[in-house]
Amino acid sequence: MVAKKRRFETIAIHAGERPDKTYGAISVPIYQTSTFAFADVGKSRGYDYSRTANPTRKVLEDTVAQLEGGKAGFAFATGMAAETTVIHLLTAGDHIICGDDIYGGTYRLFQNVMQDFGLEFTFLRMDRRSKIEAAIKPNTKMLWLETPSNPLLNITDIEMAVDIAGKHKLLTVMDNTFATPYFLKPIEYGVDLVVHSTTKYLNGHCDVVGGVVVTSNDELSERVQFLLNAMGTCAAPFDCWLVLRGIETLPVRMKQHEANASRVANYLAEHPAVKRVFYPGLKSHPGHEIARRQMKGFGGVVSFELKGGASATSRFLKRIKIFALAESLGGVASLAEHPATMSHASMPKEHREKVGLTDELVRLSVGLENADDLIDDLGQALKSS
Ligand SMILES: *Cc1c(COP(=O)(O)O)cnc(C)c1O
Repeated sequence: MVAKKRRFETIAIHAGERPDKTYGAISVPIYQTSTFAFADVGKSRGYDYSRTANPTRKVLEDTVAQLEGGKAGFAFATGMAAETTVIHLLTAGDHIICGDDIYGGTYRLFQNVMQDFGLEFTFLRMDRRSKIEAAIKPNTKMLWLETPSNPLLNITDIEMAVDIAGKHKLLTVMDNTFATPYFLKPIEYGVDLVVHSTTKYLNGHCDVVGGVVVTSNDELSERVQFLLNAMGTCAAPFDCWLVLRGIETLPVRMKQHEANASRVANYLAEHPAVKRVFYPGLKSHPGHEIARRQMKGFGGVVSFELKGGASATSRFLKRIKIFALAESLGGVASLAEHPATMSHASMPKEHREKVGLTDELVRLSVGLENADDLIDDLGQALKSS
C-alpha cells in the first residue's frame, strides 16, 4: 500500500527524523556539539562538523522543506543571513529586480552592502507586467519578491512574476515571512527559492532570531548548501530546536492570528480617527482579489494611518497598552511599531515617500490575545488621538 501524503498539520509535528533514532526521544534532541567522532578513518557517522550539518538543524530543514513543498531546506542564524547567502548565488555585474516596499533590512543589504560588491538593483512596485518587463536588462538574473510586503501589505501576482521570470530565464526568490507556508506556497507557483525570517511566525514566540531557505531543485540545493558551509551563515542547534517547537503549533496559531487580525482590520476601517487601513483581507485592498486567489488566508499583520499626522501617531503609540511598542512581528504577543523610525528607518526618507510609507503609518502584529481585549485597547488609544 502506498503511504498517503501527509497533511500540513501532521508534517509540522512529524517531519524529519522523529522520534530520534538513538533513544526514541519525542522532543528532537539538541545536538549541542561542534564536532562528531568518526566511526573509522575516512568513515563518518553521517555528521562531521556542525557548520556543515547538524542533526537538530537537519530536522528543522527537512520540516520547512516539506511544509513549503520544496526539495531541501537550509537553516540560518537570522533571516538576513539566509538572504545574504541567497544573494551570493549571483556574481558581480548581475542585476536584480526587487519590490520597492520590502523589509527595510533587505533594502539595506541590497542598497548599502551588495551594491558595493558589484550587484545592481532596481526597486519597483511589482504590480504590472509591463513595468517589470521594462526593467529587465541583458544582465538581469533575479526577481526578488515579497508578498504581502512589509509593512504596506502590497500583493504581487506570483503567477505573473514567475511567468515573466520563465520567459527571461530569471531566478525567482520569494520572501514568504508574512504569509508562511500555511497560507501561501510559492514553490507550487514555480518560484525557485523561498526565504523566511523564522524569527517571525515560524518560531512565533519572540525568543529566537533565525532564517531558512527552501529550494525547488537539486542544483539549487547543492549551491545553497555549498554557500551555507563556505560562508558559515548557519543556525545554532538550540535556535533550531526553538523554531521546531514553534512550527509544531504554526497551523493553529496562523488561523487565530488571521481571525484576530481580520477583526482588528474591520474595526480600524470603521474608526473615525483612522485614515486608511492596509490589510489584504479587506475588500477595499487593491490586491484583495489576487491575495484571495493565491493565498489560503491573509495573515496577521495590519497597518494603518491615523488622521491628525505625526503627533496623533505618537500619542497613539504612547497610549497603547496590550500592544507593546516593539520591532518584529509574528509572535503570540501583539506588537505595534512605527516603520518610519523603527523597522524601516534604514530606508531613506525619499524612498519611503516614493513607495507610500508615510510617517503616519503604524504596523500592528496582531497576536493571540482575546480579540475583544485587543479592540478595547485600540479603542482607548485612538480616543481623541
Ligand atoms: C524580519 C524580516 C526579515 C529579516 O529577518 P531577521 O530574522 O530579522 O534577520 C526579512 N524579511 C522579512 C519580511 C522580515 O519581516
